Amino acid sequence: MKKLTLLSCLLMTVLVFGQNTYLHCGKLIDTKGGKVLTNKTIVVSGNKIMSVDDGFSTPSSPEDVVVDLKSKTVMPGLIDLHVHIEGETNPRAYLEKYTLNDADIAFNAQHFAQVTLRSGFTTVRDLGGSGVNVALRNAINAGKVDGPRIFTAEKSLATTGGHADPSNGAKKELMGDPGPKEGVVNSMEDARKAVRQRYKNGADWIKITATGGVLSVAKSGQNPQFTVEEIKAICETAKDYGLEVAAHAHGDEGMQRAIIGGVRTIEHGTMMSAETMELMKKHGVYLVPTITAGKSVSEKAKIPNYYPEVIVGKALDIGPKIQEMFGRAYKKGVGIAFGTDAAVFAHGENAKEFGYMVEAGMPAIEAIQSATITNAMLLKMQDQIGQLKAGFLADIVATNDDPTANINTMNAVVFVMKDGHIYKN
Ligand SMILES: [Zn+2]
Repeated sequence: MKKLTLLSCLLMTVLVFGQNTYLHCGKLIDTKGGKVLTNKTIVVSGNKIMSVDDGFSTPSSPEDVVVDLKSKTVMPGLIDLHVHIEGETNPRAYLEKYTLNDADIAFNAQHFAQVTLRSGFTTVRDLGGSGVNVALRNAINAGKVDGPRIFTAEKSLATTGGHADPSNGAKKELMGDPGPKEGVVNSMEDARKAVRQRYKNGADWIKITATGGVLSVAKSGQNPQFTVEEIKAICETAKDYGLEVAAHAHGDEGMQRAIIGGVRTIEHGTMMSAETMELMKKHGVYLVPTITAGKSVSEKAKIPNYYPEVIVGKALDIGPKIQEMFGRAYKKGVGIAFGTDAAVFAHGENAKEFGYMVEAGMPAIEAIQSATITNAMLLKMQDQIGQLKAGFLADIVATNDDPTANINTMNAVVFVMKDGHIYKN
């Protein structure tokens, strides 16, 4: 009887407190303070960080698990604010639009999500796909599929013939006339309807294509495509529904309209002038640079027949300009949010962006802060992710080297925990 009581007591303890994980961290990046700390223990219980203690503490219960990261550098799970989780570049991508079913897209997306998570990105903002992205987000949140925490824009908004018009390049019989339900906007009324439809479809963000883009089957990669009034209607409606707006933009005029119209982030920002950089600062708009995508498209454009003919010139022109613009924007004090446009290059290579940011003049610690604390703030998750702190979600990654000394170590994340689950060790 006594034995039974003891046993049930033990069982109770396990049920109440569960199994804790002790991470012994040789180095730990304090993203808020911008410092690298040494010899810390992170105690994880369930999906939360219970405490971050000095030295290497040992667990009190035999149920607990110790993970030895004494030779590693530990940091919060990384956040990429610009991915397209449903697809990935390949020479047949333009045909796949007409051959893949939603089920094919879903299996592909699940694979890309796993690859992304295992590379250390525990949260992503997905900036446009078909709607499978919403289903994938829900499946990941429900624990049915492994992947990063997703905030998705569902389908990007465009104008007729604009960068995200889904029927660009199709023959006339297939072109149709997509309207706001499919994300194509040609008036303020359409703009409001398109946003409300995204809300109804389950979007967390609104994405607009404020200028032409590189990879659409259309002539200009930089022309402005919305009026200021249309962008204002989008941003105001988004606000009503608790959403914020991200604007794809390469050309300067379209960027200025987007900033004045009320967007939160500018994606790419390729031809950004000094005047527009000042406007960004004045309105508190963040730049999501996507340098990796720029470099990747200009490389791919050199492979014969990789892209349709109309894209090659745009890719060679726009791609290489992003890194140089980023360097100027950083020096001018524009707010920088880490984002890559993964899908334009292979998922899982998102961390290449860190090296390019550092190469352009941003200190490594600030590049890491952009991918953690800054992005957490932009996702309104600043009390849950982006820092290693008691009460925060247990999204934790580690590298072999200290990235403040060797930024390329970010390309080979060796430990990944998300929501307290270990996905890579
Ligand atoms: Zn994109």
